Amino acid sequence: MKTSMFQVVPLPTEVADRARRAAKAGVVDHAVVIADSPTGYPCRHCLRFAKPGERLILFPYASIPSGHPYSETGPIFVHAEPCQRYRATREYPGDFRSGRVFRAYNTGYDMIDAQVANGSEPEAIVEKLLQNPETAFVDARSVTRGCYTFRIQRA
Ligand SMILES: [Zn+2]
Repeated sequence: MKTSMFQVVPLPTEVADRARRAAKAGVVDHAVVIADSPTGYPCRHCLRFAKPGERLILFPYASIPSGHPYSETGPIFVHAEPCQRYRATREYPGDFRSGRVFRAYNTGYDMIDAQVANGSEPEAIVEKLLQNPETAFVDARSVTRGCYTFRIQRA
């Protein structure tokens, strides 16, 4: 297998666990939902689509922290039950080979580039964005709904 120049950064386990505790406590912006489609509910912790019937927590996550022009908080899912954080971080997650847009940010959290994987290999797009020395990280998002999916850094 080709060694990638990038590293996938799934949602930290403490963020997923905090969301699970908040949902249990009935915090109003943490909703429990049941997946009703095989490709509609991506868990940001294990980086898999939830299977129909699985429970997830839907909650707002600040992928780009506040205090910047490109600050962004948006809805994400995590499995309601504990799941294994994505471990094959040198490999692009197989469930998200299509339907993602890749946004490149600099160290100041400014968005400096963006590319859609239109039938191309997502690895090639990510590596091209990371070849720009200004790129600090790349965020993968849903191309349709715009939701944050995962982050990619240089390995
Ligand atoms: Zn999960």
